[in-house]
Amino acid sequence: PNPVTSVKLVLLGEAAVGKSSLVLRFVSNEFQENKEPTIGAAFLTQKLTIGDRAIKYEIWDTAGQERFASLAPMYYRNAQAALVVYDVTKPASFVKARQWVKELREQASKDITIALVGNKYDLVEDDNEEDLVRKVNVEEGQNLADEEGLLFFETSAKTGYNVKDVFVAIGNKIPEA
Ligand code: GDP
Ligand code: MG
Repeated sequence: PNPVTSVKLVLLGEAAVGKSSLVLRFVSNEFQENKEPTIGAAFLTQKLTIGDRAIKYEIWDTAGQERFASLAPMYYRNAQAALVVYDVTKPASFVKARQWVKELREQASKDITIALVGNKYDLVEDDNEEDLVRKVNVEEGQNLADEEGLLFFETSAKTGYNVKDVFVAIGNKIPEA
């Protein structure tokens, strides 16, 4: 039997982009329409099997509010992986995501695996040519990811679209224990 690889993972991003909802989808395969805001940070674990590898994610889901931002280093300092989440309908949340990526590149472990995640894809998947609801283009996300060497996904915690894929992709980048 293969040993279990533990992976410390932190979620960062503006309030209400869906960080806790992504974790809830990944851990319980559930979604709550009116999820209560996270206070401080929440800790959850989830096992994932990728091929013949077993990974145990130790997840720190942080609060997005500015007043908690000074606590973030406590959570990302020892993290091997980070999800930097924005909302594809909220440009300000993408600006914030850029700032988190910069901070992680400056302050976090050199070999941290970062996934940039544009959440709430369900709100834009039926957009017509005028793209009224989507405010952050796929190209903007992909460009940032290419510049900074990040994994990149658009997801929906609501439908589950691409959520597990993010964690599988991260697991594949983490070396064996
Ligand atoms: P957090 O502050 O980043 O942890 O965000 P939450 O997970 O608390 O979600 C904020 C709000 O957005 C809640 O009302 C969620 O139900 C909603 N939400 C989260 N993810 C999605 C999604 O993928 N699609 C839609 N339509 N709503 C979402
Ligand atoms: Mg939350």
